[in-house]
Amino acid sequence: MQAHGCFIGSAAVMVLSDQDDLVAAARNLMTFFMDESCGQCTPCRVGTQQMLAALSSDQWDETLLTRLSQVMVDASICGLGQAAPNPVLGLLKDFRGELAARGVQLIASTGAPAAMRGDA
Ligand code: SF4
Repeated sequence: MQAHGCFIGSAAVMVLSDQDDLVAAARNLMTFFMDESCGQCTPCRVGTQQMLAALSSDQWDETLLTRLSQVMVDASICGLGQAAPNPVLGLLKDFRGELAARGVQLIASTGAPAAMRGDA
């Protein structure tokens, strides 16, 4: 599976059809990860909150989402925080047309979220 860019994680499998709303699924999954975060480490605790906030709009800041994802993957202590960005990264990589069809506009910014800079 790694050869196809997949990450088996806990081996739980979710199957979505072409009738499912992938934007709603991404928001739902990030809500799950935020709720399940134990809060021990900042990249996961704050990152899931910041990502969910960024996904709540119909304008997704791709720069912000990508930066948050990188911090979470690199610096989260355990697999939950490391895997939490995967649904969003998958959408940005392979489902950009679906995002547009669901009314999500991708924008680019230059700023990291305040909470991740340590000045919030
Ligand atoms: S990455 Fe793991 S240890 Fe860190 S806050 Fe998330 S669940 Fe807790």
